Amino acid sequence: MQTLPIRRCTLVAGDGATSVARMVSCPTVGHTVAAEACELCQHLEAVSTTAVQCTPPVVPPERDPREDLRERAIRTQVADLAAPEIVCIRGDASVADATRLLVEHDLRCLPVVDAERKLVGIVSRADLLRESVHERAVLTEIMTPRVHALPEDAPLAYAVALMAESRVHEVPLVTNDGVVVGVFTALDALRWMAEQLGYRLTEPARPTPV
Ligand code: SF4
Repeated sequence: MQTLPIRRCTLVAGDGATSVARMVSCPTVGHTVAAEACELCQHLEAVSTTAVQCTPPVVPPERDPREDLRERAIRTQVADLAAPEIVCIRGDASVADATRLLVEHDLRCLPVVDAERKLVGIVSRADLLRESVHERAVLTEIMTPRVHALPEDAPLAYAVALMAESRVHEVPLVTNDGVVVGVFTALDALRWMAEQLGYRLTEPARPTPV
């Protein structure tokens, strides 16, 4: 028996009238059906306000095509997808310098590094836009320290799970010594996914060498 959640879609009409559609993703027909249809279905076991319980007919197991995508996401390394050019900034640089670099290179964030280019934090556009940030502040005062980082050979599958769980759009790639060698972004992952789905994309605009 399977328990299938009932999804609800609230629709507000131009006259202010509100209606709610209740839907279930039906494993038998392979698409979403109205929850009302379940009440007439021979496979229904029980229905509540939030879920349908049913025993759909057993279908012979066949290879899930999503497995192929999963395997490719495990075999693909993040360094192969990340931009070949990165821009880092030293922690003793100013907010003004960071702002200039972000704008010049059309970036959302910069890895903050020490003299050996080892990661010490990350500074984002949001950090710089905070009202309390003074233009002459140094980055170590406003950056996000102890950020997530990945080894450059990390599998794409792990990277996207980490980013989704941590709600971050960019993750620095580092060597075993912590030296920054790249930045993997959510856009890199999206481009990979689009290409796996058969779309041919134009080359992205990359940061220009400093
Ligand atoms: S009760 Fe029937 S229609 Fe509803 S989800 Fe289960 S198999 Fe599909």
